Amino acid sequence: MLNPLTLLLVTVLSGVMAMAVLGSLWRAAIPGVGYWIAANAVAIAGLLAFALQGHAPRLLTFVAANEMLAIALLLVLEGSLRFLGRNRRPWSAYAGLVVVLAGICYWTFVVPDFGARVTLVSVYHAALYGALFVLMVRGRPPHRPRYSYYFLAATALLLCAGHTSRGIMYGFGLIAQKNLMEVLPPNILFLVLGILAQPFLSIGVVMLAHDRLAERLERLANVDDLTGALSRRAFLDIGTALLNASLRNGLPAAIAIVDIDSFKAVNDTHGHAAGDQVLSHFAAFVARELRVGDVFGRLGGEEFGVLCPATTAAEAVVLLDRLRTRLAASAPAELPRGLGYTFSVGVDQHRRGESLEQLMGRADRALYAAKAAGRNRVMAA
Ligand code: GH3
Ligand code: MG
Ligand code: MG
Repeated sequence: MLNPLTLLLVTVLSGVMAMAVLGSLWRAAIPGVGYWIAANAVAIAGLLAFALQGHAPRLLTFVAANEMLAIALLLVLEGSLRFLGRNRRPWSAYAGLVVVLAGICYWTFVVPDFGARVTLVSVYHAALYGALFVLMVRGRPPHRPRYSYYFLAATALLLCAGHTSRGIMYGFGLIAQKNLMEVLPPNILFLVLGILAQPFLSIGVVMLAHDRLAERLERLANVDDLTGALSRRAFLDIGTALLNASLRNGLPAAIAIVDIDSFKAVNDTHGHAAGDQVLSHFAAFVARELRVGDVFGRLGGEEFGVLCPATTAAEAVVLLDRLRTRLAASAPAELPRGLGYTFSVGVDQHRRGESLEQLMGRADRALYAAKAAGRNRVMAA
């Protein structure tokens, strides 16, 4: 059962299945998926060419087969680079492909040397797996589950080690072997490693792609499209957690409800599109000025919430009033000429035992007071 040919054919089948799974992700237009599908297709062709050893010309079973497996791995790396948004091509890896091709031709047709061929191919694979390992470790996202990144990194590291030891054993003549289909224990071991490579890599990239899909859905649910601020729901969720944490730590927390002044007039005078521009300008302006840890969300229409941990109501008033004067002093270049705007704010501090909704209710009443007092001001409850 554990003969090289059977193992090769099992790998081919797993490659076909991986293509089917990756194919189901095609429509989601996730960067890299196309490369990963292509990698499986090329690897399958390469493995089939290997399987024909002894029954077909060496140009196919040695040269093309090895080159295709090298290309397949390069495509996995390319896909991973695209996935992570790195658009520079790994040119040294492409140059390596040419070296591999020349070396295999030389050690097949000019000076036949199985060991030299294996060493060359192993070095190439080890280098690319090493690069994949580094890419996954460096590219792991700070605020998302990293499981799939670590899974791929571990796979790449294992395969890098496998290929390195294979290169060393053949390079230093520790194994005497004349062709790939010979049944020697190390050969079987390396083949098993090679067999596991494709399904493991495919599972890893599929997990990456699924995580990207989950991230998109979470974004749709949690981030307001127009302004990039948190959606109302996410603001309430995160805000509630933040209030609980403040209570546990015995620290104050303050909320500010911000409403843009006479916004209906902006829409009526400059058009709805200009109104939208004001909203996104305001959100970008606030996001720039807030401190790390402050939570900012769009509560609806032209009304926003800012939740400030470790902040008293008095400090929040100072913070928001500074925002207000800065905005008044600036002439936003992003907005149509002559379009300035102001906002009013109601502020209050969290009291032990009350919910975020209750806190927001009191800040809202302060906001109404600020409006009634003439707008363009910050008032505490
Ligand atoms: P006040 O100073 O009292 O807050 O007056 P206001 O005009 O800002 O308040 P009002 O609640 O009367 O009007 C809010 C307007 O905001 C009405 C609504 O059409 C507009 N609006 C709500 N959401 C959006 C949006 O996404 N884009 C645009 N352009 N306008 C919006
Ligand atoms: Mg308003
Ligand atoms: Mg309003």
